Amino acid sequence: MPAELTDNAIRVLEARYLLRDDQGTLSETPDQLFRRVARAIAAAEQKYADASSVEHYTEQFYQLLSNLEFLPNSPTLMNAGTGLGQLSACFVLPVEDSMADIFDSLKLMALIQQAGGGTGFSFSRLRPKGDLVTTTGGQASGPVSFMHIFDCATEHIRQGGKRRGANMGVLRIDHPDIRDFINAKRDGVSFQNFNLSVSVSDVWMQAAQQDQTCPLIHPLTGQAVAQVSARELLHSIAEAAWQTGDPGMIFNDAINRANPTPRSGPIEATNPCGEVPLLPYEACNLGSINVSRMVRQTSDGYAIDWQKLARTTQLALRFLDNVIEVSRWPDPRIARTVESNRKVGLGIMGFAELLILLEIPYGSAESIRLAEELMASIAQEARTASEQLAEQRGPFSNWSDSIEANSGPPLRNATRTSIAPTGTIGIIAGTSAGIEPLFALAYRREHVLGEQTLVEINPLLLRNAQRYGLEPEILQTHLAQQGTLESLPQVPETVRAIFRTALEIPPEEHLQIQAAFQRHVENAVSKTVNLPESATVETISRIYHRAWELGLKGVTVYRYGSKAQQVLYLGTTE
Ligand code: ADP
Repeated sequence: MPAELTDNAIRVLEARYLLRDDQGTLSETPDQLFRRVARAIAAAEQKYADASSVEHYTEQFYQLLSNLEFLPNSPTLMNAGTGLGQLSACFVLPVEDSMADIFDSLKLMALIQQAGGGTGFSFSRLRPKGDLVTTTGGQASGPVSFMHIFDCATEHIRQGGKRRGANMGVLRIDHPDIRDFINAKRDGVSFQNFNLSVSVSDVWMQAAQQDQTCPLIHPLTGQAVAQVSARELLHSIAEAAWQTGDPGMIFNDAINRANPTPRSGPIEATNPCGEVPLLPYEACNLGSINVSRMVRQTSDGYAIDWQKLARTTQLALRFLDNVIEVSRWPDPRIARTVESNRKVGLGIMGFAELLILLEIPYGSAESIRLAEELMASIAQEARTASEQLAEQRGPFSNWSDSIEANSGPPLRNATRTSIAPTGTIGIIAGTSAGIEPLFALAYRREHVLGEQTLVEINPLLLRNAQRYGLEPEILQTHLAQQGTLESLPQVPETVRAIFRTALEIPPEEHLQIQAAFQRHVENAVSKTVNLPESATVETISRIYHRAWELGLKGVTVYRYGSKAQQVLYLGTTE
């Protein structure tokens, strides 16, 4: 029996995922969508096995999807089996310092976004504003100015008519235009289609810690053009993030220490939400296991079903490798890079819900231990699955050049794991997003369905209200106004702890959870450190230092209320 979809899941599927005929009338049901996707992805088996294998995996994948145990990223759900060959969510494109190259990447960006993919760029190679352009004798406009062109193009491409595009713009901290970049979104209107990240090195973070100066370096000549206070610059990043949520930080050395194929060059950028560092022209497809469904009932509650998790991981990894097999790419350079490394990003969603089922408070020592154990197990099973696929199908073609070439049997995929935000597939699966805590126990969600607003009261809390001695009606009225259990006196402390929400969790605990997952993930981890409105710029600076010390690959903060329009609001009444 397939799992039941929530009302919100059905609304999201109808708005964006289910196929429509020429008149715009829905032409498939959710169940047919799962069959379409399962069949299209299982077709990859043809190349390596016989028809019975295709049948076998069609059924296996269908079970996986329709039971909401695993879902691939949105482009796979939207496009698989429709004739559209682009199934990946994540791309990085180069931006070289020439007009021809910039517009070449712009064109590719348009094609990728049209099919639902997100694009990341490093603008660090562009000469600074005011620099001489020898061919024309004019002045260069600089990276931030060029970013406007990308932003504007994205604004006008409604992805497959379904969702607006998403970009990541990265600039190195030592680029002469870094201040313009840091402040680029502070007016609240520019770069609405971009997440921004400042890329910093270990040396630079040390300099900030010790209050030393660092050079700004001209990207073409390699010469220092100014010396700046590292601490002051970090402070200005924190200030901008305090005000608008952007920029985030990416830790370039941590990323490149984990680069599986350094001989193909350094990694300079990530996909839009930061969870996949990629080479230029590289793409990655993601998928997430719904861990709230990896449990079995015990005499007094729930326990993790480790065998089910292992089986699911193996099947999911095969699914993601098959996605590469049946994908078609908008450019031969992308096809080549993807084929060389075959990166996939298997992660999880529903972590907060799992903790609630196990009655473990998010952020507690026990939750951090569980995060490690869970992800270590998934990483291990994913590696085993990738080894087995390498035996049957051959390793990724860069294998002998990769950092793992001398340390074990060949792998099919240069990376196997990543933690995505699961912003939409989390709704489809009816569980909590990625590894995030519950944002609130009741909330309004804006802009998911165009002008419509989704209202959600955490069904787990409602379901378990009586067990915890709470009157469902009182709870509902209170939550609709407040969004959390705070200030509801009859709630016992233990229950309050289990249902702690994002803003009640201290930054250090957010970071500890992120770090626990990062230790067992080859790509990166999408996680937002949510802060209450009263948080200070200093708090944010400290979070940056802590994130770096913990070995994270990036960090994003969001202070409640700091965007004119945010995606989630506390409470269900305006
Ligand atoms: P989903 O739940 O829709 O599969 P996620 O929220 O997990 O997506 O995001 C995963 C990645 O998908 C992002 O990092 C980004 O690369 C891409 N992505 C997400 N939303 C968009 C969007 N609106 N446009 C383009 N790409 C997107």
